[in-house]
Amino acid sequence: YHAPAGHAAGPNPQAARGRCQRLSGADHSENPLPRIPWMRGNFKLRTGPGSGLHRERRNEVYMEALLEELLEQCRPYTRQGKVATYIPELAKANLDDLGIYVLRSDGQHFHAGDWNKPFAIQSVIKPILLLLALMDNGEEYVRSRVGVEATGKPFDAINVTDQTLLSDHLNPMVNMGAIAICGLIHGASYEEKFQRLLELTRKLAGNPDIQLDQDVYLSEKHTGYKNRALAFLLKTYGMLEDDVEEVLDFYFKACSISVTSQDLAVIGSVLSSHGTLPDSEERVFDREYGNYVNAILMTCGMYDGSGAFAVNVGVPAKSGVGGGIMAVVPTRMGIGIFSPGLDEKGNSLAGIQLLERLSNRLYLSIF
Ligand code: GLU
Repeated sequence: YHAPAGHAAGPNPQAARGRCQRLSGADHSENPLPRIPWMRGNFKLRTGPGSGLHRERRNEVYMEALLEELLEQCRPYTRQGKVATYIPELAKANLDDLGIYVLRSDGQHFHAGDWNKPFAIQSVIKPILLLLALMDNGEEYVRSRVGVEATGKPFDAINVTDQTLLSDHLNPMVNMGAIAICGLIHGASYEEKFQRLLELTRKLAGNPDIQLDQDVYLSEKHTGYKNRALAFLLKTYGMLEDDVEEVLDFYFKACSISVTSQDLAVIGSVLSSHGTLPDSEERVFDREYGNYVNAILMTCGMYDGSGAFAVNVGVPAKSGVGGGIMAVVPTRMGIGIFSPGLDEKGNSLAGIQLLERLSNRLYLSIF
């Protein structure tokens, strides 16, 4: 999955900072609409009072103000959460960080706060792992190995019932199922499999600079005892063919990829369009895979908080213990959020507050 040439000019922190400054200036009347290089270029802009351009401008100013307002409302919640400590490197995160990035299907993008701060993707890699497994093996095979039932259990649950483990006990969005999915990725070596996952992540995010965070990776590798237990259980029940340590090393690396809220918003927007990139309409994965992944995000993406999230926010989403949330509003937008303080279920506490308010104001719920 090589990023197309056009993506080399895709979202890079420098360009993004410039855009941020333009956006934060009070007077927008002279500047053309700020556009990101990878947005669709099919707008028909008319100028003059009452024209589409004026409506678009009003809408843009509204969105910028809305994000700032909601961010300030949610700031007090950042300190009510706790950073993850079971991966020592994650404990170094700054509880005060809070950022949001929104990429709409019309190419308009909005952001506020620490939208450009890097953090570990953690479990938000799980939908990308699932996509790669689907692209490599097809839906039928993947589903026969890792089920789609919501577990209603915490992210690291040992979901063994009646002394047996079946594919229906696994879900790709919780650790045990995600580790089983790692065993389905194609590649001559685990090094090659990781490169393929990294390339797909870069392509979906339109950001060729996405890298592994070596410190988070080593920190998790040295302390991931529970995940080792889960992987050995998979091995015991014949659900993992490869060497356990090799699979885990790949899983730990996958969780340690460093991203920003902007990256998550762009990836979310590709899922919201069921597989096409925002700039080119190039199809990256089959439409059905988009349906498959979004459905699983809806029912299990926020772990044992997925039911409340469905009621209160109402869109497919995935959280990670690094503090990221990727939300997918089908056909409308991708949203990336970062705030490292977690609730007791391992979901970003202020992030959920922010999404609830945004969903209420923009009528995002798909229900
Ligand atoms: N790497 C984390 C773990 O396996 C992922 C958990 C999460 O982000 O929810 O524990």
